[in-house]
This record gives sequence, structure tokens and C-alpha cells, in this order.
Amino acid sequence: MSSHITAVYQGVDGAYSQLVLQAWFGARGLDVRTVGVPSYREVATSLAGLRADAGVLPIENAIVGTVRETYDLLAEYDAMPIGEALMRTDHRLLGVRGASLSDVREVLAHPLVIAECGRFLASLTQARAIPCEDTGVAAREVARGGNPSIAALAPAPAAALYDLTELARHCADDPRTFSRFLILRPRIDAPGVLRDLQPSARRKTSLVFTLADAPGTLARALGHLDAGKVNLSKLESKPRLGHASDHVFYADLDGDAADASVAKALDGIRREARTLTILGSYDAHDGDPLEAGGEGADGAAHATTAMTYVQPIATAAKSPKGAAQFPRVDRDSKPHGTVLQVGGVRIGGGEFVIIGGPCSVESREQIMATAQAVKAAGAVMLRGGAFKPRTSPYAFQGMGWEGVALLAEAGRATGLPTISEVMTIDQVERMAAQVDMLQIGARNMQNFDLLKAVGRSGHPVLLKRGLSATIEEVLSAAEYILSEGNPHVALCERGIRTFEQATRNTLDLSAVPVLRERTHLPILVDPSHAVGVRRWIAPLCMASKAVGADGLLIEVHPNPSEAKSDKDQALTFEDFTRIVADLQRVPAAPYAPVRV
Ligand code: PEP
Ligand code: MN
Repeated sequence: MSSHITAVYQGVDGAYSQLVLQAWFGARGLDVRTVGVPSYREVATSLAGLRADAGVLPIENAIVGTVRETYDLLAEYDAMPIGEALMRTDHRLLGVRGASLSDVREVLAHPLVIAECGRFLASLTQARAIPCEDTGVAAREVARGGNPSIAALAPAPAAALYDLTELARHCADDPRTFSRFLILRPRIDAPGVLRDLQPSARRKTSLVFTLADAPGTLARALGHLDAGKVNLSKLESKPRLGHASDHVFYADLDGDAADASVAKALDGIRREARTLTILGSYDAHDGDPLEAGGEGADGAAHATTAMTYVQPIATAAKSPKGAAQFPRVDRDSKPHGTVLQVGGVRIGGGEFVIIGGPCSVESREQIMATAQAVKAAGAVMLRGGAFKPRTSPYAFQGMGWEGVALLAEAGRATGLPTISEVMTIDQVERMAAQVDMLQIGARNMQNFDLLKAVGRSGHPVLLKRGLSATIEEVLSAAEYILSEGNPHVALCERGIRTFEQATRNTLDLSAVPVLRERTHLPILVDPSHAVGVRRWIAPLCMASKAVGADGLLIEVHPNPSEAKSDKDQALTFEDFTRIVADLQRVPAAPYAPVRV
């Protein structure tokens, strides 16, 4: 069987990750075209955005331990493991031709490699180690510099690739050292050849879970494994950001999540845990670790050309019959729910967020006073429009970039992350540089090119429901953003057009539980634009929280009767303060399926 697979790895030619891809796919009779990208995150986003068929990330090293970033990226992006590979990391010291060991004053190496070669480096008393992003880069830089006093720690094949000479072999402190890598594919829409790979007899499952800091929680969680005779092959913890007393655990189990005993144990852990993310089940590595090239420097025969970007391999998600139409936004694709991180604020995951601010930024005094007032009341983010989608071309159109700068200034002064609307593609990049979250307004919910542009930005996005958009259309619009590789999306119900004239729009509160069931994305409610009348906003705020929204977007103005846009719905500081206080007494919907 032969088929072309494009696979991404972090680094440039000669990196261990590249060798792993070649060995893993080679062993399965698959041709692989390897493409180097600058960061681990870009490996994940290339997969989530379907710009690569496969990828690889290191997950653990026998000396240094867990590469947590990999677990975190797999929890964040739509990429899943399909296989595990162990590779012995046999580091060589490579220098330019003619150099000798005694010439060496600087050694370029990946930080992990520096840790693995501590004794060897200490023996080079004249030389200091310089961290470098990747072993391939280290070798390439040495070759480019042509300086005999600079050497690199890299695998053997890098010598031939960059025409370097080996100054020392087997530099790791322990010759048995190895790294574990995960071979990855996009969670959805992987090429058939990867979907059709037969699972091997030995499977493993990786997970990330969080536990409350209370007596017995870990013992009870692990007890479920014991009860099902499921072997735990790895467990590591760290404090949970923003919840210092809770702990995040990174764990690997023997077996597939679909095995009855593993599934039962995972259900048990889910009951004990605040959150549980199953990163996936994959083929365990079989046999001895792979070797990174031969004894000498002749193992580079398969090295391919590194590129810094990859072309999309698929333009549309091809859903199998009966599968969700929105593979990326569907709740099944991330049952535990998405939690966005916007500045220091988390949206989703059980916390109720309140975003307050004026419809439009009108002046420094106005936005500064509003920022301080909403913060004092308990809001955690600041809104303010600078590009306004007004019905009449003669109405105030917003302050434009000057307004954005004032919003950003007020955000910095108060420490509140900011959100503002983008109306055109050419505003996206500049807006993303200045505010923490991009708003897609109701009128642009189906501006598909704009959705793709905010998708490509990777910046958090609040997608508002269109004035006449069905729930299916909202989900489909969100799918556009996620399909570009940007998972940082929250939805906003802001009222829809109905026959009813008593209110500006009709707040569709039933959309909240429906969306909650259909998608893992957080759901906010904007009662201001929905009802359009100041005195009806308070009850709708309470109802939104009770029905299970993740938060509110509310318009506030220092002097509503003077507001340049939407003055009938702007709350005074006093009204806003009272509403935020009253919301404390409303319990969040107890049946919200998100537990973080
Ligand atoms: C706004 O939030 O300022 C706004 C214009 O909202 P919508 O797009 O929901 O009308
Ligand atoms: Mn408004």
C-alpha cells in the first residue's frame, strides 16, 4: 500500500520528530512528506485546520519527564493521537569540518537535550550550552555559522544533512534515554488511509483530569482503575491555573477507551473529577525504542525539505452518513465543553462571566468612567463598539481606530480584557492586536469570508446570532471559524426577529439549552439588544443565568439619554451594579452538562 501523507513536526530537517514520522509511517508502508513548522502549537493548529494529514509531538522523556504542552494542546485543539513511538535519543556532538572537541566554546542544543547530556556538557569545561528551539535548528545554525568553536547536539543523521562532522558520540548521560512521541491526526476528516489503519493489539489511552484538593479524591479516582484491573502507566500532576488548590493530572492507561473495563473506569473517574478530557486511544509502541539513524552519519537518506507552512489538504469536512453536520462544534467532538481563556478570564466551564460597557466608545472620559464602574460592580470584561453596524448611514458610525485605542487604554487601566466588533476582513488583524476578543455582530453572522478571517486570526471570537438565523445556521457559522483551526469561539444569543413588536427583538432563551446540548462552545446572552428596553433587561439577566448561559453581554452608559447609539437599552451604572449583585442570588442551571 502506498499513499502520500503530509505530516507536520516542530523543527527543521534533522529533528528527532522528523525521524520518528519517517520511521512510524515507513513501518506501515505509507509514504510521508514531512513538513517542519516553528512550534508545537503550530503542529496542533495545522491538524485542527486540516492543513496536514498527520503530525507528531513529543509527550515524555525518560530523563526530563512529561512534555505538558503536548497534553494541553491536545486538550485544546481538534487533533488526536493514533500511535505512540519511542525513540532512543542518541545525541552526537556535531561541529564544522576540521573542528575538534577542544575548539568548542558553545554548544547549541534543545533544552531537553541539555538536560539529558548534563555530565557530558560539564566535562566540556571551556564550553557553555546555549538552548535552541530544536535539534535540527542547532545543527543547521552550526553549519551556517561555519565557526569551529560552535557545535550542536543532534541526532546522527543531521551530520550528513548539514555536512557536519561528529566530534563526540553517545553524549547522553544514560545510553538508555529515550523520548516518547505521539503520532497525531486531525480529530475529524483524516484521510481514509489513516482512518482505516487497523488498531494494534496493544492500545493506550491518554487523559487529563482535574481533582478538587480534598482528602481521598485521587485515591477514589484511581480506585476505579484498580477495580477494573486497568494499568496506569503514567501519572503526573501540577496545580490548576486559576484554582491553585485543585490539581491537574496527566495520565496514561493501558487499553482502549472503548474497552469495557477502561470505559467503566473512565466513567468512575469522570464522577470524581471536576474535568476529564480523554485525549484519545492509540497504538502502543511495540518492541525496543527506534534508533535515530545508524552508527555513523549515513542515516539521512529519507530527510525531506522543511517548509514553514503547509497547503490545506481538504476544503470541506466530509461527514460520514449520519454523522454531525458540524463536526468541530458538535458537542460529541468535545463532550467536556470548551473553556476559553480571554486575558485572565475563563469563559465556559461553569463560571458565569459578566461583560459590561457602552454600545459605542464615545470619548476617553466615557469609556474610562464606564470601565471603572462596571469593574467595581463585578464585570470581568469590557465591551465597546468602535465600528458600528448602524441601520441608517446617517447614524453615528463609531469612532473607528481611535475608539479601539481608547477601549484598549481603558482595558489596561482597569485590568479588564476587552471585546469589540470587527465588520470587515481588513480590520481583523489590527483589532486582534489591540483587543482581547473579536465580536462578530448579528448582521455579519453569515459573512463567511469574515468568519474565515477571524478563524485564521486564532484570536478569541464572540459570534452573535443573526437577526433571523436558526440555531442550525448559528452552529454552521461557528463551524466556519473552527474549520480554520481557531477553537476559541463563544456564541451569543441576542434576540431574533419575530412578529412581536413590543420588544426590539425576541430573546430566544430556549436557544441556550438547545445550543448547550448541540455544541461544546460556551453560550452568552445579550439581553440589551434582545429586548431593547432598559427596564426589561434585569429580569432577562436573571433568566439567562437560570437557563444555563455562561455569561452576559450588557450595555452600560454613564448617561444613557445622551448615548450616541442604543440609548433606550443602556443601563445606568446604578442599574448595572444592582443587577450584578442580584445575579449572585440566582443559581446557575444545575443541569448544565459542563463540569470543570
Ligand atoms: C453590539 O453588540 O454592539 C451590536 C451591534 O450587537 P448586534 O450585532 O447583536 O446587533
Ligand atoms: Mn448596541
